[in-house]
Amino acid sequence: MSLLAGPEGPAAESGWGHDHERKGFFTDTSICIGCKACEVACKEWNRNPIDGDLEILGSSYDNTGELGANTWRHVAFVEQGQERIEEAKESGRKLVSLGMPGIGPKSSGVRGATPAGDLSTTDRTPPDTPEFRWLMSSDVCKHCTNAGCLDVCPTGAIFRSEFGSVVVQEDVCNGCGTCVSACPFGVIERRDDGTISPFAHREDKVDRMGTASKCTLCHDRLVDGEDPACSATCPTQSIKFGDHADLTTEAQQRVTDLHERGMTEARLYGANPKDGVGGTGSVFLLLDEPEVYGLPPDPQVPTASLPATYARVGIAAAGMVAVAALSFLGGRR
Ligand code: SF4
Ligand code: SF4
Ligand code: SF4
Repeated sequence: MSLLAGPEGPAAESGWGHDHERKGFFTDTSICIGCKACEVACKEWNRNPIDGDLEILGSSYDNTGELGANTWRHVAFVEQGQERIEEAKESGRKLVSLGMPGIGPKSSGVRGATPAGDLSTTDRTPPDTPEFRWLMSSDVCKHCTNAGCLDVCPTGAIFRSEFGSVVVQEDVCNGCGTCVSACPFGVIERRDDGTISPFAHREDKVDRMGTASKCTLCHDRLVDGEDPACSATCPTQSIKFGDHADLTTEAQQRVTDLHERGMTEARLYGANPKDGVGGTGSVFLLLDEPEVYGLPPDPQVPTASLPATYARVGIAAAGMVAVAALSFLGGRR
């Protein structure tokens, strides 16, 4: 498994002890209005260069397209018709029957009492399915529990912070790009020379050119006791920042509430500590399947198979030595 993960949580396992709670995001896409204030705040705070010429892509109101070295927050716009919305509702219902945690009436804990979540007197008629909707979602680095980028970095430029986040030290990164192929989400990227921007918009000097670049969970702000720039700016609180454990509980409760209101398409992404990356520091509430938002449905940290690979190599090497020894002994007879 990953080099720096375990039952005590990523920060503790990395030598920080238990003095710090793991921090993270809960991004509730059901209340995102697509204003992109988070994207702008991130760029402004981190002085990241412009992407493209600010034209929308043509396929949607998106104008940055994806996360990248210069875009550490990306707001996706997904256009959906009635048929797809019905499919999303159905797939959400199936997740409940598969045992998605946190769905069902809340109990007051008092025997014989009416459960706190008893909705028998509440109108539970699901809302009509609209003919059309936009899904908007602000994507970011997942700050994985088992982070492939961190595991494979040969220079130690990527470290696990005291907040449990995954941070690149650009003055240590040698630009080898090993981390880029190890990220199952396609988040981390090396910064280019700005050639994707029209010449007129290019800055004279591109900072940190050639080094790997991604969201730091605003580490510089956290050490000063401030919230990250993106969550502090979001006008609808679609991006919530806080203690990871509390946010995960809040996210599960929010899915329960939405299902009770007939929005059965709601589901969580990144909240399962048994998934292929051990769960993520950035948890999302989605209104359709992950692929719809460009997220992998079953991300796997590539270093998870390293112990098995080393074991197989060891067995193969031992076999070769044994064959060589037998050949040698046979040749002497
Ligand atoms: S999402 Fe990618 S870049 Fe971010 S911590 Fe996970 S592996 Fe690293
Ligand atoms: S936490 Fe900071 S670096 Fe990360 S996306 Fe938000 S503003 Fe950008
Ligand atoms: S996450 Fe918040 S700031 Fe970002 S686009 Fe959505 S509503 Fe706007």
